[in-house]
Amino acid sequence: MPKIDYPKYDNVITFDKTSSVYLTGTNHADNQPVHLKLKDPDLPINYTLEKFDEPAQRYCPAGVYEVQKENDVNKFVINSQNCIHCKTCDIKEPSQNITWVTPEGSGGPRYGNM
Ligand code: SF4
Repeated sequence: MPKIDYPKYDNVITFDKTSSVYLTGTNHADNQPVHLKLKDPDLPINYTLEKFDEPAQRYCPAGVYEVQKENDVNKFVINSQNCIHCKTCDIKEPSQNITWVTPEGSGGPRYGNM
């Protein structure tokens, strides 16, 4: 598919991702048990990246999933502390490889700032 050229956010009705995630009031402890579980940890790089360009990098509204290159090797990174609990990854992952489980309590989201 051709790449969609989205207009840049205008800070009036559209905003950058980091500011929007901040507004959710989500604040997970960095060392809490992982609540985004991969059935097969190798699948994102060995299959989904080549087949679908790893869509988790784009469908997650909080930018939790990244593919990073380390010494010329791709690595799937999950920044679970930024998760805002929308559960899109649990539904949209093409191989149903991601399972969202309930995180530790009291980390938000709290939408009072919106
Ligand atoms: S539930 Fe999944 S898609 Fe939604 S914010 Fe969390 S990691 Fe991203």
